[in-house]
Formats: sequence, C-alpha cells, structure tokens
Amino acid sequence: MDFQLYNTLTRQKEIFKPIKEGEAGIYTCGPTVYHYAHIGNIRTYIFEDVLVRTLKFFGFRVKRVMNITDVGHLTSDGDTGEDKMEVGARREGKSAWDVAKFFTEAFFRDYKAANCLMPDVLCPATDYIKEMIDLVLVLERKGFTYRIGDGIYFDTAKLPDYGKLAGKSHIEGIQEGARVEVNAEKRNPVDFSVWKFSAPGEQRQMEWDSPWGKGFPGWHLECSAMAMKHLGETMDMHCGAEDAVAVHHTNEIAQSEAATGKPFVHYWLHPRFLIMGETGKMSKSAGGFLTVQTLVEKGYDPLAYRYFCFSAHYRKQLEFSWESMDTSAKTLEALRGMVAKLKEEAPSPSLNKASDFYKQFSEALADDFNMPQAVAVLWGALRSSLPAAEKLGFALEADKVLALDLDRAPAVEALPPELMALVKEREAARKAKDFKRSDELRKALSDKGVLIEDTSKGTKWKLARG
Ligand code: AMP
Ligand code: ZN
Repeated sequence: MDFQLYNTLTRQKEIFKPIKEGEAGIYTCGPTVYHYAHIGNIRTYIFEDVLVRTLKFFGFRVKRVMNITDVGHLTSDGDTGEDKMEVGARREGKSAWDVAKFFTEAFFRDYKAANCLMPDVLCPATDYIKEMIDLVLVLERKGFTYRIGDGIYFDTAKLPDYGKLAGKSHIEGIQEGARVEVNAEKRNPVDFSVWKFSAPGEQRQMEWDSPWGKGFPGWHLECSAMAMKHLGETMDMHCGAEDAVAVHHTNEIAQSEAATGKPFVHYWLHPRFLIMGETGKMSKSAGGFLTVQTLVEKGYDPLAYRYFCFSAHYRKQLEFSWESMDTSAKTLEALRGMVAKLKEEAPSPSLNKASDFYKQFSEALADDFNMPQAVAVLWGALRSSLPAAEKLGFALEADKVLALDLDRAPAVEALPPELMALVKEREAARKAKDFKRSDELRKALSDKGVLIEDTSKGTKWKLARG
C-alpha cells in the first residue's frame, strides 16, 4: 500500500519513498529543558510517536533521533534575549546543568506516560559542541558566515532558495516584523547566529572555547549538526510543530544545505498546535500551562489525553477542554471494558489481515495519519458482528499504533478524587442508615456519569458507558 504524507516543503501529500528501501530515518526536534513540557508539546510527541509506530506497522525499520536542547535557545527567535537555560537556572535557584537534568527527567516521565516510544538516539546539545563548531568552520570556509559584535552569523542572502520551507512571502513578512527588534549590525534581519560570544565581563554557566572565542552555539545549529551526524547529510523525515517552520527549520535547512550542497530532508512534517480556550495559547515562557502531571493529579489516565489527541487530524489545531478530557477518559474506559469482555469470550485472539476493518484501518494510517478515521474504524469493528476472537485480534493489532493499552483492565481507581469522595460519603451515609442522603449522593454521582451498585460485598461503582 502506498503510504502518503503531507510534506510542508512541497505543500502537498506525497507517497513516501525512503532513501534506503524498507528504512526510515527521522529527526524530531526535542524539548528545551528549562521548564516542564506542557500538554501542547506532548501533542507533538504523540503525533511523532504515531508516525514511528505507523512506519513500523507498515514494516519499515525506523531510526529516530531526538535532541535535547540544553543550551543556546534564546527567549526570542530573532537572536536577542537571554538563553532559556540561564533563565531557568535563575528561576529554580539551581545551576543550568542541574536544571537541564531535572527537566529532562521530568520530560521523559510525561513522554513515557503518554506511551511514546523512546527514540533510538537521544542527543543533548551540550554533548555535540565539537560537531557544531566543525559545521560553522565549513560554513565559514564556504563564505556563508560573517562576524559582528555579538557572534558569527549566517548570511542568508548567499543562499538563493533561503526560506523555501515557509515560502518567500512569509519570510519577507518576518523580515518586516524583525526590523523592530533587529540587531543593527546584521546584514539582513533574517540572518541568524551560528555562534554567540559570551558577553564581555559576563561569566556564563554554559560556555565553550571556539576558534572565534568563548561562547555558545546558535540554537538552530544543534539540530543540523546532530541530525547529519546520526542520519547522514540527507535524511528521510524531520518533524517539529508548526512554530518551527518559519525560523528554526528554515535556518536548519539553510546551514545544512549551504554546508553540504545536498538536500537536507526529503519530507518535512509539522503538526499544528494544541490551543487553550480563552487565550488560544499554551506556552512555556508565558507560564500557567498544563502538564501531563496536572492531568494525573486530577485523576486522569495520561492515555485519555492520547485518545483525546486522536480526535483531530494532526494538521488541524486542537482545542483543549476539560469536557473533552472527561469524554475521552470515559470513552477509553469503555473501549477497555469492551476488550476485557472480548478476552473473556475469546481467550485466543485471531487477526484477519484480509478483513475490511484491517484494510480500512491501514488506509486511514496511510492517508497522512488520519487518526480520527483510524479510531472510527476500531469502533466500527468492535460494534460489528465479527466473531469475538477476530474483534479482539483486530483491537490488539490496532493498539500497536494507537498505544492506548486497550488490553489493560478497566481502571478501578480511575475516578477523580472529588467523585471518589462522594462514593465514600454515600457508603458512610448508607451505613448510618441515612437513606435520604445516600439517595441524593447516588443521584449526584449518576449526574456525573458514575453508576452505583450495592452488593453483598459493599458498594461498587462503574462509569456509565458513553
Ligand atoms: P520546546 O520544548 O519549546 O522546544 O518545544 C518542543 C516541541 O513542542 C517542538 O516541536 C515545538 O514545536 C512543539 N510545541 C510547542 N508549543 C506547542 C503547542 N502549543 N502545541 C503543540 N506543539 C507545540
Ligand atoms: Zn530542532
């Protein structure tokens, strides 16, 4: 089956043709570890996980590389502002290195909780300073750089197709906007730093010697250096969310292609943002964002968030709401309940790859990762008249990509704490023979989708099946 994906570079869906038959090399931009990852970031990683799992589903061998940005990402995309790591260190009262370690660990706890597979290669930027300096030396030798007061810059005017990823008019728009805050020494507002000097008299926590003096790498440089080191000068795919198109990925392309004279990446994939109702924004620098741990503290299974992410195509923005989270949590429990019942009916699953459902599911994945459709096919199969063993076989196979732990027994303690408290209060009321109060609480719980059953072994509750 042809596997189609939307390529930002060509602005169309294309059939995936790997560089090496049966293999896929993917670079995905990783977290800047100066703060917790928010659930918007996690939406992007869930998409990338679906990408990896889908490729594996279709039989590709995948090599996925992810960086950890632990230096050099400034608070502004325009090469001004402070290094986010130094900002994080000040906020936390720790060293920049400790901040990086702490938030890298926190990141992978959330990442794994969302059932995202670990990348094959993980590369912290600070381990690749030499490769980055070498890349700048090549650019310098080829005449693509110039030196100004605060660093070495890439001269975008030297590259005729600079900005091809976002489109020329888009880049011109940025040029206009950038003039407001531009470093006056730059030859062109969209030129970007490849090496920044430590400010005179300032002792940075993270700085290195280089042929141009003490300093630190420009943010975009790390992804070019590490991607090419692990995946070769030209790779199959590169991902990051929509915000990376105009500056970060545009500049990665510029410096990589200027250095090698070869195409850097064949397919660029960019999921769109998760947005919040009132402000529309979820951003680390603005603070006040939601994390996977926030969801866990509120009693949600992180995989309910993963299920919620499948409610929209990755190329559409997705609006977060607690109502949708509740619905996703209930629906996931219902799915697990159905699978648990199937397991009772048919102890050994059977997978029929010739079935319509299997075909439709594969088609949905192969059509630029149409997850809402893939999930709809799963529901269709579970509600169909297929024999239980086949339903079970299909659900378990689909779960290799969905990764919703469908064969996990429906949660017993999955009620949010405030509802659990009502269940307990009702039990106490019943024991005290306060049947009026007990009935009121039963009604309050049922209004919230929790059904109560009094058995000889005590009170049981279950979620009303959505
Ligand atoms: P950062 O840690 O800020 O470097 O971002 C990590 C990844 O999350 C990058 O691929 C970003 O493009 C992506 N990202 C940032 N904000 C959002 C958002 N609101 N929704 C989805 N992805 C995002
Ligand atoms: Zn990157």
